[in-house]
Amino acid sequence: MSRFWSPRIKDLTPYVPGEQPKLRDLVKLNTNEHPLGPSPRVLEAIRAEAGDSLRLYPDPNGDALKSKLADYHGVSPKQVFLGNGSDEVLAHIFFGLFQHGKPILFPDITYSFYPVYCGIYNIEARAIPVAGDFSIRPEDYRGDCGGIIFPNPNAPSGKALALSEVERIVGSNPDVVVVIDEAYVDFGAETAIGLVDRYPNLLVTQTLSKSRSLAGLRVGFAVGHADLIEALERVKNSFNSYPLDRLALVGAVAAYEDEAYFRQATEYVVRERQRVTDGLEQLGFEVVPSAANFVLARHPDHAGADIAAALRERSIIVRHFNKPRIENHLRITIGSETQNDALLGALPDIV
Ligand SMILES: *Cc1c(COP(=O)(O)O)cnc(C)c1O
Repeated sequence: MSRFWSPRIKDLTPYVPGEQPKLRDLVKLNTNEHPLGPSPRVLEAIRAEAGDSLRLYPDPNGDALKSKLADYHGVSPKQVFLGNGSDEVLAHIFFGLFQHGKPILFPDITYSFYPVYCGIYNIEARAIPVAGDFSIRPEDYRGDCGGIIFPNPNAPSGKALALSEVERIVGSNPDVVVVIDEAYVDFGAETAIGLVDRYPNLLVTQTLSKSRSLAGLRVGFAVGHADLIEALERVKNSFNSYPLDRLALVGAVAAYEDEAYFRQATEYVVRERQRVTDGLEQLGFEVVPSAANFVLARHPDHAGADIAAALRERSIIVRHFNKPRIENHLRITIGSETQNDALLGALPDIV
């Protein structure tokens, strides 16, 4: 801390991302990255763009990508907002679309960036407990609030909420913006994008970081009513006119032009998720049924922190949250076949 810090900064508790170790040959199952690389068409597009054009600023509006996403999801380009990863999109939503002065509702077990955004914008956060099986209960999300946000599937539980239940939450809160963070939707949940034309208070965010294998490119987006998107454009154009660089824009467009690769890569993860789940259960773990590219699991006889530490000694990194209700759980990203074999091979010694 220094005397030059603003009072606001002194009180912030920043988000702590999963570690990105510099060591090689680690079995890295801690940040929900895709085990397979991006589509070859993405790499080709990025290579083609990496030339003289980098002299020039990128399109500040990302029109080509907006059109591509609009076509893909059956909406108009005016209903699409782009950001430097969906984290940036979420930050703009907290600033521009939630009513400050009233609490923002989200589940107690959820993405730990939400309370951080509340902190930086000085908004009250209200954590709503999920049920014992980690499910979100729609009836708990009503009443006076400044906005609602939750991931579907939720993280780090991996639990999906049926679209009809999502709709119940959106429909029973017509006076605030309800945000569905669909970072993991492609691995097993139903998207709410099809509802945006019926609910002007619904905003859906997605990312290319997980199911499109592009965490390193930093592209996320939101889909909703054009009026909500306009608010986000106002925030973005008061902050950074060029959040997506040229390589990100062309790479992201190419990702949506290779549907076959996307399907195949998603199926690979879903298949491996079943194998990891079965393997963990055979070792006595309780595994929360997952619709995402990770599983949340606990062993009845061993502390989560101990298992994580023992795995780390064997160069396998998983995520442990020192947080009430899940302090004995581990969040394990679904890796490649080889990585998952390494995990399942190391665990019998530990448990
Ligand atoms: C990974 C993740 C994000 C953000 O991903 P970006 O890489 O910033 O697009 C948002 N929400 C949840 C729940 C996530 O797990």
